[in-house]
Amino acid sequence: MSISARGSVCGLLAYPIGHSLSPDMHNYFSEKLGLDEVYIPLQTAPEDLKKALEGTYAMKFLGMNVTIPHKQAVIAYLAELDESAEMVGAVNTLVRTEGGFRGYNTDMYGLTRSIKESGVKLSGCEAVLIGAGGAAAAAAAMMVKEGAKSLFILNRTPQKARALAERVNSLAGKPFAVGLPFDGLAAIPGYGTEAGNGRYLVIQSTNRGMSPNTEDAAIEDRAFYKLAHTAVEIIFNPGITRFMKLSKAAGAVTIGGLKMLLYQGVRAYELWNNLIIPEDIIEGAYKLMEEKLR
Ligand code: NAP
Repeated sequence: MSISARGSVCGLLAYPIGHSLSPDMHNYFSEKLGLDEVYIPLQTAPEDLKKALEGTYAMKFLGMNVTIPHKQAVIAYLAELDESAEMVGAVNTLVRTEGGFRGYNTDMYGLTRSIKESGVKLSGCEAVLIGAGGAAAAAAAMMVKEGAKSLFILNRTPQKARALAERVNSLAGKPFAVGLPFDGLAAIPGYGTEAGNGRYLVIQSTNRGMSPNTEDAAIEDRAFYKLAHTAVEIIFNPGITRFMKLSKAAGAVTIGGLKMLLYQGVRAYELWNNLIIPEDIIEGAYKLMEEKLR
């Protein structure tokens, strides 16, 4: 990868920066598309966020990704919010505009594209969401946007599940979501019965099962896994989580979190550069990230 003195700069604001795959993905896009652009890690502590945004804007950054712990805090410093960010209540992508950065949420786009790609219809679907944090907010907003029929949100801290259900019910303008504790599975229609088998799209969005704790899953109950026709994991490391193994053993089709990561990045890159990335380049970036995770 090389960049000229006239090249564009994008970056990732995070703290700590961790083992992000985003620089690999975005620099691969630039290399394959022949764009004079570079994507760099920008480790930024919460107390420095405002200064970091002023500095990167002054230095003509084209755009940025924003991740933990800045996804909500960043909103206070933006010139505009896209509808996607308003729906989710969090921002993961900044795009340079005349008066400042405009905030988007491309996690919602990434998750939607990864699910639709596998042939699942979201409109009218019945869904179960495990988790009620930031990634869950994107998943729940997606259910509103795509017109899901019902949504059961399960979380270790049930108050957060109920708060997220309330938020999306008000977005949808109808009571389609319900928040439940992990020991409240019996409230899901069809649970433990033949009629419930393969009835739901299930999305796992907690941290439980993330590397290095790869033998963990938020829910162990085998009867729960029978509810899923399709099981979507948001964690991307490891590539196959215990949630995915339990879901597959119960008969569900499984989708891993790397596709969501890929497509949220595709959308961000397309917004920064006002172009559509060809499929073969997207596939190449996916393979590169898979290799990096091995
Ligand atoms: P977050 O806002 O901190 O939310 C964490 C969620 O996990 C909460 O629901 C929390 O429950 C739950 N949780 C944490 N530890 C748990 C445990 N030991 N047992 C049960 N539940 C537990 O985090 P986030 O931003 O939503 O991120 C969650 C995961 O999604 C991370 O692994 C992240 O890497 C991944 N992610 C992936 C993508 C992608 O592109 N594939 C995008 C965004 C995020 P409580 O409310 O009870 O604490």
